[in-house]
Amino acid sequence: MNDKTPTQQVSEWLAVLGAALQRGDAKGAAALFGPDSYWRDLVAFTWNITTAEGNAKVHQMIERAVIPAKPSAWQLEGEASEVNGVTEGWLRFETEVARGCGHVRLIGGKAWTLLTAMTELKGYEERRGPTRDRGVEHGVHPGRKTWLEQRQKEEAELGFLRQPYVVIVGGGQGGIALGARLRRLNVPTIIVEKHERPGDSWRKRYKSLCLHDPVWYDHLPYLPFPDHWPVFSPKDKIADWLEMYTKVMELNYWGSTECKRARYDEAEQEWTVEVVRQGKPMTLRPRHLVLATGALGVPNMPCVPGMERFTGDLHHSSQHPGPDGYRGKKAVVIGSNTSAHDICAALWEEGADVTMVQRSATLVVRTDTLLELGFGPLYSEAAVAAGITTERADLTLASRPYRTLPGLHRPMWEEIKQRDADFYARLEKAGFQLSFGEDGSGLAVMGQRRGGGFYIDVGASELIADGRIKLKSRVGVERIKERSIVLTDGSELPADLIVFATGYGSMNGWVEQLISKEVADKVGKCWGLGSDTRYDPGPWEGELRNMWKPTHQEGLWFQGGNLHLARHYSLYLALQLKARLEGIPTPVYGIGPVHHRS
Ligand SMILES: Cc1cc2nc3c(=O)[nH]c(=O)nc-3n(C[C@H](O)[C@H](O)[C@H](O)COP(=O)(O)OP(=O)(O)OC[C@H]3O[C@@H](n4cnc5c(N)ncnc54)[C@H](O)[C@@H]3O)c2cc1C
Repeated sequence: MNDKTPTQQVSEWLAVLGAALQRGDAKGAAALFGPDSYWRDLVAFTWNITTAEGNAKVHQMIERAVIPAKPSAWQLEGEASEVNGVTEGWLRFETEVARGCGHVRLIGGKAWTLLTAMTELKGYEERRGPTRDRGVEHGVHPGRKTWLEQRQKEEAELGFLRQPYVVIVGGGQGGIALGARLRRLNVPTIIVEKHERPGDSWRKRYKSLCLHDPVWYDHLPYLPFPDHWPVFSPKDKIADWLEMYTKVMELNYWGSTECKRARYDEAEQEWTVEVVRQGKPMTLRPRHLVLATGALGVPNMPCVPGMERFTGDLHHSSQHPGPDGYRGKKAVVIGSNTSAHDICAALWEEGADVTMVQRSATLVVRTDTLLELGFGPLYSEAAVAAGITTERADLTLASRPYRTLPGLHRPMWEEIKQRDADFYARLEKAGFQLSFGEDGSGLAVMGQRRGGGFYIDVGASELIADGRIKLKSRVGVERIKERSIVLTDGSELPADLIVFATGYGSMNGWVEQLISKEVADKVGKCWGLGSDTRYDPGPWEGELRNMWKPTHQEGLWFQGGNLHLARHYSLYLALQLKARLEGIPTPVYGIGPVHHRS
């Protein structure tokens, strides 16, 4: 029994850590961590996104990355707390070049988890609040340029008379969020987007699409949604928000501009990026290239014998125009994850005769249950009322090392199973194969491992349970005939429309398309943790592969993910790029070998 308050315990632990680091005593600092401890660092010490797991790895990271970064000013922020023998608190610290924040959990006086995250670079702080720009120079200034004239000058020059430091390929939410961060850090950036308008990557999807995540989880950096914003944004509404955001954040956004090819010149240390802007070929020469072309990668379109002879409509879910015109038609949707469910439900609403083909088990969760048990503690009206800011919520998620998540999440998924037992029983009775993850760890972990495999039920599950959407389960597609599809159990379904909702590949597929196979293989697979589960082969990596951090290709970066990830991790990618622009040394620690090519 410790007679010190949680605040005293964390403050003292931080003081001892700070002193050990200051005198360069890696052994002494590592002794403050338990045997099964984790130190997760978001760029602050390692110029990488990496987790040291276990005391020996923590020791090594302290020696090779933390001490060389000259940490100081470790301080508890607010009061620490204690729950079930875990004492935890928020903290602040500095390095020679940056300021950071973090979170620590102590068990028995030793660290179990420590998160450190860079928040800003010294001398390059974003101007905000008291340091905001005045916006106008009062007085009389002959030849003065208005804000509009300055913006127009920048637009006329950047990419023409002077080169951007960064080109972001892809102007969806990922590209836009990163673009906003870079703008605030004065990093000259152009976003190239093949669609005409910001938000088109949402607008051009099937018309019934709504965000499946709630509003509290979806804010973009700097500019949260107003408090009347609906819990679930319809796609065209989020698209308009993205368009407005791009404008008010003053992003250099080149719509109707497709990146055709990119090549890195090792000698010049710059990219040659060939784009076609509004029909005209152009070349950009940035130092850094960020692919924000969609975290889910290139669409997986299986090659099925007979496909070319099909006389109806056949496309991947990413190309599906929506249900209009399919009333009374026979539709077969291959796949059973989010897009498949959404497309089936919309076609059914339109009056089509719909069959879903499910090959393997899918995680399904009722949206209200997930809102309460999954999102509720951090992203909800109740969390807002409890004073949990979006930044605090994001850092809380980040403070839990990936290795610990399955154990943390399993009890919640057991509760979900019990609470909605009737719902799941009805789905199973209809033949639907259910999964809760290979180890029962649920949706978030599944998302990290494979980027999909689930459906947050917003209505389609009832249609499946009562047979209004027909289900063919435990079968695959064998061949396609002129107006039907033959499944592996020998059954044949007449079809006017076939949709392959068969998911997406790894983001390095984009590298292969835009740069080369050689570079795609060099950087390796994106996303996934190395959990050694289906679609996420081992060995264990402990962080999402290649996302928001240095890759094995100099000057090549990946940005993407849902709105939460695009918001939070864009900060760390932006800081890495800003540091390079300013010539701040960025020694990268802990970049691992590539184990998988795609
Ligand atoms: C049914 C459904 C529900 C979803 N619900 C949510 C949700 O609730 N919350 C959430 O965050 N996400 C949700 N998503 C996922 C959503 O699709 C992704 O989170 C999001 O689109 C990822 O953003 P991004 O910017 O990484 O990629 P995208 O939005 O795919 O943007 C990539 C952009 O790159 C452009 N591009 C690609 N190649 C080039 C090129 N060569 N040159 C120029 N431009 C190029 C594309 O045109 C595109 O605009 C949902 C998806 C589906 C299907």
